[in-house]
Amino acid sequence: MRIDVFSIFPEYLAALDLSLIGKARQDGLLALSVHNLRDFTTDRHRTVDDTPYGGGAGMVMKPEPWAQALESVHGGARPVLIVPSPAGAVFTQAMAHDLAREEHLVFACGRYEGIDERVLEWAEGSFDVRPLSLGDYVLNGGEVAVLAMVEAVARLLPGVVGNPESLVEESHSDGLLEYPVYTKPSAWRDLAVPEILLSGNHARIARYRRDEQLRRTARRRPDLLARLDAGSLDAADLAV
Ligand code: SAM
Repeated sequence: MRIDVFSIFPEYLAALDLSLIGKARQDGLLALSVHNLRDFTTDRHRTVDDTPYGGGAGMVMKPEPWAQALESVHGGARPVLIVPSPAGAVFTQAMAHDLAREEHLVFACGRYEGIDERVLEWAEGSFDVRPLSLGDYVLNGGEVAVLAMVEAVARLLPGVVGNPESLVEESHSDGLLEYPVYTKPSAWRDLAVPEILLSGNHARIARYRRDEQLRRTARRRPDLLARLDAGSLDAADLAV
């Protein structure tokens, strides 16, 4: 997969050199480039923002540098252009799976009051444009959202996570949160690991974990449970 990120703070994205994503880049599983938007300006001050038409507080990112920047990475195909925005659809694990199947992702990090809306309209001509939000709160810029989205997508690429099975039973993979996990020692500060996990009975452990998923999701995220397809529940689930 190829990923291009545009930002006026490219150094913010240095974390993408670390850990599994850094290794995926070194191993050639991911070709990720971070570009400075100011390199696509033409004036002496490398200006990327101006005052908003219609008045109001703050500044707006100018269209010209964005068009130059996006044109510089556009190849033959139609890349997905992700525009992080608190006014976008909320990014989900299902979207991460969809994006992991794409060949080329481009991320446009906004700052100030955001990017001139015409950039998105213009980009529709040659990109699959998706304004996406990290959640219902406002950040200062798109960089933190890009770190989260790139990590969520890249870890789904074949070979990035050592054991692909660890991606299967995760929170949000089946609409539920993951069950609680434990490691050694089996007794720690008067707290014991649930007995059943030491039993070696795989069928009972699987049932216990499924029950814990349902209980935890009901307690912490009842909205997820309400959205669950009733057909995905078995009789034992309904008894929890
Ligand atoms: N005026 C904008 C609004 O109210 O919708 C907020 C602009 S915000 C201060 C600046 C930039 O931060 C946005 O253009 C976007 O790139 C990024 N940003 C802020 N909150 C975000 C969120 N929840 N998800 C994704 N990106 C976000």
